Amino acid sequence: MKVQCQCGAVSFETPTPAPTAVYHCHCTECQRQSSSAFGTSAIFPANGLFPLSADLQAKLGCWTRPAKEGRTMDCYFCNACGVRIMHRIRNADGQERPTVSIKGGAVKDLDWSEATHIYTRSAVVPIPPGAEKYETTPPPNSPALVSGRRNRGGQLQQQTPMILQYIYDRHNGHWS
Ligand SMILES: [Zn+2]
Ligand SMILES: [Zn+2]
Repeated sequence: MKVQCQCGAVSFETPTPAPTAVYHCHCTECQRQSSSAFGTSAIFPANGLFPLSADLQAKLGCWTRPAKEGRTMDCYFCNACGVRIMHRIRNADGQERPTVSIKGGAVKDLDWSEATHIYTRSAVVPIPPGAEKYETTPPPNSPALVSGRRNRGGQLQQQTPMILQYIYDRHNGHWS
């Protein structure tokens, strides 16, 4: 699937032909990040996209913020138009998670029909009737986390409310 930012400077193919899961997250962090009602994340394996090509390294900026339990989230955005493109979690030991969360609106022809709504406790728009939805994160046995739409690592961790202190960390040029 093609991923593109608003200005078109950032453009690449997803590592697999379809995401393993799609989430609409209604948490206040996603509202602020998207400057909108909710954030949409399409989950893909990181392998095949990371390590980033030299072209993407040159065109993407990265802001890293703290997450729970010593983890951090690398937030990639277009250097030209500022659009957030994707998120990836690092464990406390610096090891990157095997998945990457690509922002849904940047993914061309994304199938939105199976999306799971999470953090609905802070939703500011109605949740469609019949949609799979959770007040916060889905429980471990939820349909969102089983039967091929599994993602126990990156996505749900990164949807948790963040610590107040943000760290700005531009590390263009050393992405190891
Ligand atoms: Zn752009
Ligand atoms: Zn969220």
